[in-house]
Amino acid sequence: MQFFDSHCHLQFEAFDGLRDQILSDMKKDNSRTINVGSSIENSESGVLLADKHNDILISSVGVHPFHSLGFEIYRDTDEAHNLKIQYPQDLNKLRKLAESSSVKAIGECGIDFSYFKDLKGEERDIEIWKQKQIECFSFQIGLAKELDLPLILHIRKEYQLALNILKESNFKGKAVFHFFKGKVDDFKEIIKNEKYLFGLSGVITYDTSRDEIIREVPMDRLIIETDAPYVAPIPFRGELNQPKYVIKIAEKIAKLKGISIEQVLETTFKNAMEFFNI
Ligand SMILES: [Zn+2]
Repeated sequence: MQFFDSHCHLQFEAFDGLRDQILSDMKKDNSRTINVGSSIENSESGVLLADKHNDILISSVGVHPFHSLGFEIYRDTDEAHNLKIQYPQDLNKLRKLAESSSVKAIGECGIDFSYFKDLKGEERDIEIWKQKQIECFSFQIGLAKELDLPLILHIRKEYQLALNILKESNFKGKAVFHFFKGKVDDFKEIIKNEKYLFGLSGVITYDTSRDEIIREVPMDRLIIETDAPYVAPIPFRGELNQPKYVIKIAEKIAKLKGISIEQVLETTFKNAMEFFNI
């Protein structure tokens, strides 16, 4: 079944040894995905990989809010590539990387204060960290404007703040709220802007908390994603995620909307092609 996994990190080391098989399987039915960058280093490796398989791969370049501070603050043992990340990240390198023809978006970038609680900072430190993250995000909004590319947004909880920053930056382009986990109020605010899409990931298969939003979101505002190697959908939860598991996300959406899986896959494929301007 042909799919478009609209958020994946196939360039990550977690896929070493498996990548060629995944790509050759995807080529059989022209399924597509995007190598999303979350640091300068893995943006570069994502671009190189996409350039090599440009029939089915595209890429995005960006610095995730976890990597926006000037020191190695985010430690995730699963993310082995992280050791190779140089701090502070030189955001200006994104402009050069974006010159490659496989680059179809800026991101993932955005706002995520969730890890500050592990950092034992004073209130004043936290304020500084927040400002740094906002600066990093604003820089990338500016770059998307300059290069006329859509944004891939990583937002945790702070949807209203992110929307305000986009507004203040006078951003008029397209954006996807990747891994959307917002509340109904956030959903209602985002849906007002026709250029904003919702990216639904494997977490929607874990429980029923997003069912109401999924029933309500119009099909033309929806794309589906794995965020592989992370957060595999049920029944693969806890395993290494991979692009083809996006079909499980389509399955849940199909059930809630009372349409076929094929219909969900077809529409989200078309939506992603349009969104990334392929
Ligand atoms: Zn991601």
